[in-house]
Amino acid sequence: MAEATIAAIATAPGEAGIGIIRLSGEKSIAIADSLFKNPAGKSLENGEDRKLYYGHIYDPKTDQMVDEILIVKMLGPRSYTTENVVEIHCHGGMIPVRRILQLTLEQGAILAEPGEFTKRAFLNGRLDLSQAEAVMDLISAKTEAVYDVSLNQLNGQISSAIKELRELLLRMIAHIQVSIDYPEDDIEEVTFGELKKEGLEVLDGIDSLLSSVDTGKILRDGLKTIILGKPNVGKSSLMNAVLRENRAIVTDIPGTTRDIIEEYVNIHGIPLKIVDTAGIRDTEDLVEKMGVDRAKDLVNSADLIIAVFDQSSSLTDEDYEILNLIKEKSSIVLLNKTDLPSVLDRAELEKSVNHDMVFEISALNKTGLDRLENTLKDMFFEGDLNVQNDTIITNVRHKEQLRNAKERIEEALQTIEMQMPVDCIEVDLKACWDHLGEISGETLKEDIIDRIFSEFCVGK
Ligand code: GDP
Repeated sequence: MAEATIAAIATAPGEAGIGIIRLSGEKSIAIADSLFKNPAGKSLENGEDRKLYYGHIYDPKTDQMVDEILIVKMLGPRSYTTENVVEIHCHGGMIPVRRILQLTLEQGAILAEPGEFTKRAFLNGRLDLSQAEAVMDLISAKTEAVYDVSLNQLNGQISSAIKELRELLLRMIAHIQVSIDYPEDDIEEVTFGELKKEGLEVLDGIDSLLSSVDTGKILRDGLKTIILGKPNVGKSSLMNAVLRENRAIVTDIPGTTRDIIEEYVNIHGIPLKIVDTAGIRDTEDLVEKMGVDRAKDLVNSADLIIAVFDQSSSLTDEDYEILNLIKEKSSIVLLNKTDLPSVLDRAELEKSVNHDMVFEISALNKTGLDRLENTLKDMFFEGDLNVQNDTIITNVRHKEQLRNAKERIEEALQTIEMQMPVDCIEVDLKACWDHLGEISGETLKEDIIDRIFSEFCVGK
């Protein structure tokens, strides 16, 4: 049975120049034609593939015009879903897009589920699962680096790495089959040597993908960063200087930063997710209101602490409290207000923190920030991060499957080492092959597929 024809609004809600309604399925052209009138009397059915036509959408029930539009058909299999796809480009804004969508539903389309267009692209074999997931990551990318990684994934970078490893595993399984089928030929000696070599190659390949997981997590989720400092040392000013726009409120009165901020700051491709709620920025409150233990928990849950001190005044008890909190964490210490005379005893401060992690800045004059940004990059990425070429795993599901696959190939290698009967090895090799196949979607269970696509937005 042919799949139902689906329809959805493909553009974001709100006012915009244009809005797009997308249809996919066997009846999409007929449905569009029942609503579309072209001044030259041309139907979409008789029109050319992938050519944009001008016209109007009419409500067939009342014969009233709904909007002036452009329309295009993309015949399968050369379309996003590999089915016949129609896009109606109407005026942006909620009313025209919703009314046109409603009309397509009245003409027999059904409302698409979240991610259903991409799911069809996957089920029809145009994308593998890791590529389909890349579509979602592309849409939600918050930094250029994540975007680049997702684009590589969409272009099949992970798919081809997985494919290579699975082919190698198949070759190993074939080796085993031969020695089971022809035991009298005494080829087991050779086989163990070969198997070990190939097994190590698979392990290497999995390890190299897994080695990118930490980087991938940082790129995807950002580094959870907390800015600590007593009132008035310049935390808001620092945020503004780094964000280079006035998002946080800067004020002279201690503790008046009331807005809750969770902001992404992009430092050389590293997204810092600055967590900062009212009161937390105020360290005095932080410790008093939350209690030392919870304050510690919060600090511990962060990937990075940026502690700010005012170097134009001497260290106070609050400052020492902060130094104590951050002792064992990845932290950066900023001595702010270097445009003012220096009062703070730096030697005293460096008793508690690593000299290399202390930076002099002026948030007001925006000086010293470059060195800070470069240090951040060096702290979290070894060597130069090359998001264009490196295969980076950003997806948690992929990571889990790689870990599972690694376990099984290690078990296989042990069995090979012990020269156990070859069919014992085969079980682990097959399991490893399956786990890798879950990344590309080749050995995936239906409920997992449904769950993955339900996380998409409607219209994608
Ligand atoms: P917060 O309470 O830690 O967020 O501190 P603010 O960013 O609100 O800054 C408190 C005051 O210090 C404001 O008047 C800022 O203009 C001032 N300030 C911040 N950074 C600097 C700096 O680098 N130099 C000087 N001279 N003043 C600064």
